[in-house]
Amino acid sequence: MKRPIIISGPCSAETEEQTIVTCTKLAETGKVNILRAGIWKPRTSPASFEGVGELGLIWLATAKRITGLPIAIEVANAEHVHKALQYGVDYVWIGARTTVNPFSVKEIASVLKGTDVKVLIKNPVNPDLSLWAGAIERIAHTRGIENIWLVHRGFSACGYSEYRNVPLWHLIFDIRRQFPETKMICDPSHICGNRENLFKISQIAADLNYDGLMIESHICPDAAWSDARQQITPAELDVILTSLKWRYENINNSIFSYSLSKLRSEIDQIDSDLFELLSRRMRLAEEIGKLKRTNNVSIYQEQRWNNIIERIVSRAKRLNISETFIRTILDAIHSESISRQNEVMNRS
Ligand code: PEP
Ligand code: MN
Repeated sequence: MKRPIIISGPCSAETEEQTIVTCTKLAETGKVNILRAGIWKPRTSPASFEGVGELGLIWLATAKRITGLPIAIEVANAEHVHKALQYGVDYVWIGARTTVNPFSVKEIASVLKGTDVKVLIKNPVNPDLSLWAGAIERIAHTRGIENIWLVHRGFSACGYSEYRNVPLWHLIFDIRRQFPETKMICDPSHICGNRENLFKISQIAADLNYDGLMIESHICPDAAWSDARQQITPAELDVILTSLKWRYENINNSIFSYSLSKLRSEIDQIDSDLFELLSRRMRLAEEIGKLKRTNNVSIYQEQRWNNIIERIVSRAKRLNISETFIRTILDAIHSESISRQNEVMNRS
């Protein structure tokens, strides 16, 4: 399937009409490749709508027959996979709450063995790449890595966040390095938790060379039984998909390549200088550690640290870098300095 792969459909199949009308309208855009619907919903509270179950599979199979598009559902146990196979489901996805559970993943893998159903594995709710990798390996073991796609749906945040699930894009670079052959799909709906940011997140994913998007759509989003705030109508999805730019991963153009490599070599030089300087800074921190040890003075001095932050942050505007960025870098430098001093001071 060619990039961009677009997967869309309601968060949950609710009624026959809602499922079939949403799916046919999505197919009519001509931009959707795979239809999705949640049949059994993993919800935080047992009082929430937990899905219509098998009935939804009948409706989704009808949507497949009408539109000719392949269908995808979420599976969380062996029974779900048996039902998916029975109704001709083409793709199953393992949800974020299931990826964390090796028993469930193993059970799903064993039923999928020998079938040609593709498996999409969402990132686990918590930012733990080894759990995600473990789930991928478990499925790959019985199905082969070529049948696996990954879905980035963001990670639970603690405290305030503008996202329902924070994207933590850098973790995606890491998992892609580990599994370079698997496709990466972004799920902006569950990252955003609202409609307003869907375009922005989708465009970032496109610019980071994702292979496609999974976006929830509903004929009447405000009346949806689950995830109402983040669903959009098929017409709204069409607008987003039309506006998105899927740029090339690379091109064969010598002027472009020359200009790019010139800029990159400058960047490489700056990176070397930066780390050379950081190394000198750490050596000085160790000297300070020795001095403090001899004089029996503690490592952390709040006043000194506040002064450093104030002095550097006050330059943020002139340097044209954000205060948040400066604070993040300073925090990293500070914690490394402290651990180096700690080592020096407590060496026996
Ligand atoms: C979903 O796709 O509807 C869903 C429940 O996703 P997640 O597992 O990412 O929460
Ligand atoms: Mn949902």
